[in-house]
Amino acid sequence: MSLEKISVPAHISEVIQRLEEKGFEAWCVGGCVRDSLLGNSPHDWDLTTAALPQEIKACFPEFGTVDTGIRHGTVTLLLPEGPVEITTFRVDGGYRDNRHPELVRFSMNLREDLSRRDFTINAMAYEEKKGLADPFHGREDLEHKLLRCVGDPRRRFSEDALRILRALRFASRLGFSIEEETRKAAWMERKRMQALSQERICSEIKGLLCGAYASQVLRENREILFEVLPELIPMVSCTQENPFHCFTVWEHTLHVLDASPRDFVVRMAALLHDCGKPACKTIGENGVAHFYGHPKESAAQAAKILERLRCSKKESEEILELVRAHGQELPFTPGRVKKLLNRLGETQLSRLFFLLRADLSGQPSSLWEERSRWILEGERMAGEILEQRECFSLKDLAVNGRDLLQLGFPGDRRLGEALSRLLGAVQEGELPNEKEVLLAKAEELLRL
Ligand code: ATP
Ligand code: MG
Repeated sequence: MSLEKISVPAHISEVIQRLEEKGFEAWCVGGCVRDSLLGNSPHDWDLTTAALPQEIKACFPEFGTVDTGIRHGTVTLLLPEGPVEITTFRVDGGYRDNRHPELVRFSMNLREDLSRRDFTINAMAYEEKKGLADPFHGREDLEHKLLRCVGDPRRRFSEDALRILRALRFASRLGFSIEEETRKAAWMERKRMQALSQERICSEIKGLLCGAYASQVLRENREILFEVLPELIPMVSCTQENPFHCFTVWEHTLHVLDASPRDFVVRMAALLHDCGKPACKTIGENGVAHFYGHPKESAAQAAKILERLRCSKKESEEILELVRAHGQELPFTPGRVKKLLNRLGETQLSRLFFLLRADLSGQPSSLWEERSRWILEGERMAGEILEQRECFSLKDLAVNGRDLLQLGFPGDRRLGEALSRLLGAVQEGELPNEKEVLLAKAEELLRL
């Protein structure tokens, strides 16, 4: 790790220079310093300065600004290269509702500003001439891959319980460990997360699940996750005494999560796909466990969770669709793949294949070879159907509602039913997708 890695973009350098010429100290701060030191390119550059919001604005009369959080000292400067957030040095006053500082006090002191930040690795500032400001030894923690609160961790988590989930999110993204005192404090203060808004919880869970180290972080901190998703608790003790499984539902879920692509919809579906299993468990003959109907039960519980988290409607529907569909019978047939394409669409079906493959990796390895071949065959079938433009939906069917009306079908439920019977027969390959053949079949149906 070296400071040479910090190459500040020209436009950011110019903003800092301008502030300094006007007599205000200014620094790059937080995520951009952390990511640069890690050798990753920052997605944005936040600045911190001694200038007050009005003073910041006065330094840049030629650019527009947005009062992003002017009471808290944040002004967004609209540069041609993109927006830049500039925040006045500040310290946070008392906190209410475990989240929002009651008041903020502007400060003339960088160290004070850094001391209000959550983790040492996020509490570093950099200025090209002055170098790195690192009063809390964030650089050392970066080297040791450690997340450590700035100051007393219990106090910091009780001030703002969102930091608990932020710790998990950064650990999952960066593959860092949570330093022991910080981890203990997060666990002890976890109940305070009850006061957080569900939207904030959702966005942190999203970041957490999409990190490269999500399963490891959840394995080590499951009680923290369970504080915000208590519906998952029964998975931990739910054993699966059958030939298709070798783990508890929770451990299986972590394996599936690990093997899923880092797409929120698939990862959330992975986390929730078996959450209904504990409620469906029955023990059959010879002590074999069954989980009949669990995809439906999992989807019902997942729907409650996603609604509570105020997850977007589109994502919720996509996640639930995958949860409902994950219990696919293998091997696939072309007819079933066509039905899936019709029901889910191409994008969702490819997500389902990802989920099925991930699901397999949480099962005994003796099943892998055959089942992964079956999944691959399903994927190949879908590719072929799409490539050959074979009919799998009503819009590709060689007859439509108007044709059936002309045959004399009443314009009611029967017409819809006849169309789906015809589509089903074409999907299954029982009838060719040809107008005359389908009209003849429709006439037959009309006479029934
Ligand atoms: P990301 O790459 O996820 O944006 P980031 O470190 O930039 O990472 P932000 O949420 O954008 O994270 O916050 C910017 C900085 O503000 C952080 O680096 C940290 O110093 C500080 N910060 C953000 N949220 C908190 C919080 N809840 N408590 C204390 N400091 C915080
Ligand atoms: Mg940021």
